[in-house]
Amino acid sequence: MDDRPPLLLGPLTAPAGSRLTDLVPIHLGGDLAVELPVAIVHGANAGPRVAVTAGIHGAEYVSIAALREVVLGLDPALVHGSIVAVLTASPAAFAARTIYVNPMDGLNLNRQFPGKADGMPTERLARWLTDHVLAGSDVFVDMHCGDMNEALVSFTGIEDTGDAAVDDRSRDLAEAYGLRYLLIGPSPGTTTTAAAALGIPAVRAEVGGQGRWPAEDVALHAAGFRRLLRAARVIGDAPTEPHFRTETLRTEAWLRATTTGYWHPSVGVGDRIARGTVVGEVRDAFGAVLEAPVAPLDGVVIFLVTSLAMNSGDPLLALAD
Ligand SMILES: [Zn+2]
Repeated sequence: MDDRPPLLLGPLTAPAGSRLTDLVPIHLGGDLAVELPVAIVHGANAGPRVAVTAGIHGAEYVSIAALREVVLGLDPALVHGSIVAVLTASPAAFAARTIYVNPMDGLNLNRQFPGKADGMPTERLARWLTDHVLAGSDVFVDMHCGDMNEALVSFTGIEDTGDAAVDDRSRDLAEAYGLRYLLIGPSPGTTTTAAAALGIPAVRAEVGGQGRWPAEDVALHAAGFRRLLRAARVIGDAPTEPHFRTETLRTEAWLRATTTGYWHPSVGVGDRIARGTVVGEVRDAFGAVLEAPVAPLDGVVIFLVTSLAMNSGDPLLALAD
């Protein structure tokens, strides 16, 4: 063991070789505040600092359950470097069970990065996370899953920043995570874009959805994160299973409803479909077809909205190829 200095995060001080869990109050303007559940594992040995968030979208339960399981299961004596984990990054959304947005202001937290210190509550939360969690880390991981109204095929996502050293490192870490697909491309306003702008290799990982958190999905997410920690040389061992041979996809297209009504998809999540395929129908309350959208490209259905309720402008599904 060396004499590593303590790790400081906001009001928290974690000595080397320890795990610290606490609620960190974040003021979001006016009377608004949240308490972020944070876990720090400050290893006994030198190594990289890994920052990780789950629950940026509050109803993405597989990510929240998996991150908690991994971080609270690590032995600080065996950790090289440190892990700074925000276990539920949007507590108001979690409590209110909202999809996509923070109920304090109706904004999607994962479109507000790097955030704004004097902005709306969600912008302020993004800013705090950027300044205190992303900044200063050597690796960043953002754990997601399909939202309450979404099914998805497991995948990781990374940016294409043009900085080969950062991009290659992100890709190695995403491949270590070992999910079914790897999406490479821009995602403005997200955590991974903000991390990339700071020169930090970053991976978004998605497993499960639909407001469920079955053990096999939690195990897949947890195993992937542990493999990423091993690839970053933070821990020495990780499960080999379940692990997919990752296929890379680069072109992504979101299809959105142009009418409001009842959504009847005719494709399944994970299906590979051809451009021009009718992907489903939005119908009115009496069953009349309002629209029958078609696939804009050949690709895999990476996520699919599964709620019957559909609003004009909402996503129906995403394709990637
Ligand atoms: Zn999400």
